[in-house]
Amino acid sequence: MRILVTNDDGIEAPGLCALADALGALGEVWCVAPDRERSAVSRAVTMSRPLRATALGPRRIAVDGTPTDCVYLALHRLLPAPPELVASGINRGPNVGDDVSYSGTVAAAAEASMTGLPAFAISLDDRGDHGDYGPAARFAVAIGRILADRGMPDRSFLNVNVPGSGASEPLRYAMTSLGRRCYPQEVEQRLDPRGRPYYWIGGSNPGVCEDLPGSDGNALARGVVSITPLKTDATAGDQLDLVGAWPIEGFEREA
Ligand code: MN
Repeated sequence: MRILVTNDDGIEAPGLCALADALGALGEVWCVAPDRERSAVSRAVTMSRPLRATALGPRRIAVDGTPTDCVYLALHRLLPAPPELVASGINRGPNVGDDVSYSGTVAAAAEASMTGLPAFAISLDDRGDHGDYGPAARFAVAIGRILADRGMPDRSFLNVNVPGSGASEPLRYAMTSLGRRCYPQEVEQRLDPRGRPYYWIGGSNPGVCEDLPGSDGNALARGVVSITPLKTDATAGDQLDLVGAWPIEGFEREA
């Protein structure tokens, strides 16, 4: 089996190395990943400048673009044939709740799912430099094996979060829904050496907004691996009739 591995923390990130090494047990791993950290770029695609891909070793390619660029280039140009599985991570830090709309890690799995490939994103609930990626890597092998075997509907994929230190052994997992994040909404304003203000956002770690039972954040807080199936169709189906009943002045709704 051919496996594409990518991330948003950059090709040198320890989480990517751990994931690639572990998935080697399942098949031939190709790493195509950003040449530097590109966290929180979501599904950004580079369209206004050339993209460079640099081979760093056998089946190991750095791209000076986003995680989505990496998957796109890998699938449509760089790999000799399409992979049978795409894995993104292991991200440094969790991707739960509202995080998934910002995450480059999750976006890479979403991009792969658009072409019908089985794909998953995996993140470790540890933002430190010395996180233990071992348990998450072992979980990645198990989930990768079953996902490649069973497949998923087009445009659906899995978002996996693994507890950091303090998880109960043996690791258990729960099927979860997206929870809610409470971002600090802080903006740090400072002055540059020329006296002009600049701004810094996303400085402190977000909390979990409410401890929603059945949510991804709730599972992590209990030391349990979270698996959330996601799909790229974000239509708010429950709002179609509500908004459809609005009188939009001067325009007629199509029957
Ligand atoms: Mn990241």
